[in-house]
Amino acid sequence: MNGEKEKIFEIKNAKKSFGKTEVLKDISVSVENGDVLAIIGPSGSGKSTLLRCATLLEKLDGGEMRYQDLQVTKNDENGNAVYADKAALKKARSYFGLVFQNFNLFPHYSVLKNIMDAPLHVQKRDKAEVQAEAAELLRKMGLSDKGDAYPYQLSGGQQQRVSIARALATNPKVLFFDEPTSALDPELTGDILKTIRSLAAERKTMVIVTHEIEFARNVADKVVFMADGVIIEEGPPEQVIGNPKNERTRMFLNKLS
Ligand code: ADP
Ligand code: MG
Repeated sequence: MNGEKEKIFEIKNAKKSFGKTEVLKDISVSVENGDVLAIIGPSGSGKSTLLRCATLLEKLDGGEMRYQDLQVTKNDENGNAVYADKAALKKARSYFGLVFQNFNLFPHYSVLKNIMDAPLHVQKRDKAEVQAEAAELLRKMGLSDKGDAYPYQLSGGQQQRVSIARALATNPKVLFFDEPTSALDPELTGDILKTIRSLAAERKTMVIVTHEIEFARNVADKVVFMADGVIIEEGPPEQVIGNPKNERTRMFLNKLS
């Protein structure tokens, strides 16, 4: 591969509308093995929609998408996205994990059950092995004593760490985060950012939508600035955040600081 890093996820010419609203206009982006991609941009620019399409919660209208060598969509001759068959989509789901803004834990499941559910019932893995891994994930997240607790008994920061553990439990090749700290009190935000930073240090491949610009600058290998369904600017953080070329990027960053 002549020294080039392998692409774990790639989307090309992604298009998505809701009714007459064109939310993704022609988005092409990729993330390479071990890298962190940060997506920044104003509210309503299509960031969540992009993640929801990437994680198969929403269907693209057009575009080509793949996880490593697994083709998820192709364009037909009219530029409409054609999805791979059910078996391939099922396989694709094992490539990624998703962490939502609002945690989205199962409220009626204990912490351990939340974490073990997909490995046991989707991946059909061995229970003892899954249990051992879940315990290790809880330890890593500083939640060893919370396995039997229910989500409502936990702080927002703890719930988010459980949802990160849940996303990691299936051993995904890439983790997507949709504004993982924006539902949290400021004093809990640092906690979650630290957790994500430690995953980055382990070279976990991640795509993170965030408004935490300093975090993006420090952790990301590549930053994408999105507005109105298009990518305005992309590159290394020292360029896109440190020295943006585009006026819109500059305005956006100025407003945040
Ligand atoms: P961001 O995450 O950047 O704030 P979103 O992807 O959530 O942006 O939304 C982009 C646009 O798409 C917004 O105008 C939003 O109202 C619209 N949108 C998102 N999801 C839906 C949906 N399920 N139905 C209709 N419109 C939607
Ligand atoms: Mg969003």
